[in-house]
Amino acid sequence: MEKTDPLLRISHVRKSFGTLEVLKDISIDVYKGDVVSILGPSGSGKTTLLRCINFLERADGGSITLDDTTIDLKAAIREQASEVQRKTGFVFQNYALFRYMTVYDNIAFGLKVNKWKKSDIKKRVDELIELVGLSGMAKRYPSQLSGGQRQRVAFARALAPNPELLLLDEPFAAIDAKVRQELRSWLRDMITKVGITSIFVTHDQDEAIEVADEIIVTNKGHIEQIGTPRQIYREPETAFMAEFMGHPVHVDRINKIKGFNQLDDSVKAVLRPENVNITRLDEKVDSAASVEKGVVVGMLFMGK
Ligand code: ADP
Ligand code: MG
Repeated sequence: MEKTDPLLRISHVRKSFGTLEVLKDISIDVYKGDVVSILGPSGSGKTTLLRCINFLERADGGSITLDDTTIDLKAAIREQASEVQRKTGFVFQNYALFRYMTVYDNIAFGLKVNKWKKSDIKKRVDELIELVGLSGMAKRYPSQLSGGQRQRVAFARALAPNPELLLLDEPFAAIDAKVRQELRSWLRDMITKVGITSIFVTHDQDEAIEVADEIIVTNKGHIEQIGTPRQIYREPETAFMAEFMGHPVHVDRINKIKGFNQLDDSVKAVLRPENVNITRLDEKVDSAASVEKGVVVGMLFMGK
């Protein structure tokens, strides 16, 4: 399928804090309806990038093109910045709900700011409460909700004014592992249902793999690799990528082992545990595999 122009084009974004170059030259295209994940270690500039493209922070250079309108991130005037903010919804890492407002009022907030008619607000908020599965909870306050429910409210609030683009900054970071897992597939379903173009920022590779159509891996202010979750996982293009994805172990004697994808100038190798089988000496092994004799010196049960 031929792709048309991107809904959002991020071009050459740069940002430093003092002498620290947080974003070196970031360019990303996001197509309508896509869910793009920005995946990178903590401190790699993910939040700063989202804040720069949404004018919560001023970049030192670069531009965005949203809806065919190009805006200089450094020099934009206030009206241009507000226009971008109006077209984007933002879900933050920490809940950032208004504590003293009910679920209903939290979701209605942006609509009141945009001076929607009261009857339209009610219709829209009711619809969203239903959509995110919080029927019957309209009158509750954030303190009366679980972490997962609060993030559903935050999601509904961001969607309320019908933005064209949704920015999600580690929305599940503060939530228990089990609920976080459920929320991933919930979020993926919601985004598909609503059909909203989204940028989902996370440091958690499992989260990115499950939620995104395309993953952009950032490291130290630049992009390491862009690809589908499969490509990112199976075809790492740099040493950083090979070590970053999965739970690899280092192999010292790389010449002894067959079947590697060799990167230019490689001096060491990494191996993913899921690609290793242990068989007893008297068992037959796949002849294509690289085989070494060894002794199991310890065992540790690790659940799944
Ligand atoms: P991430 O979201 O990937 O964890 P951030 O974008 O939050 O990374 O931060 C990237 C780097 O920029 C970090 O080293 C952080 O300490 C620094 N940083 C972020 N915001 C500021 C700020 N307002 N002032 C100074 N340094 C900042
Ligand atoms: Mg962050």
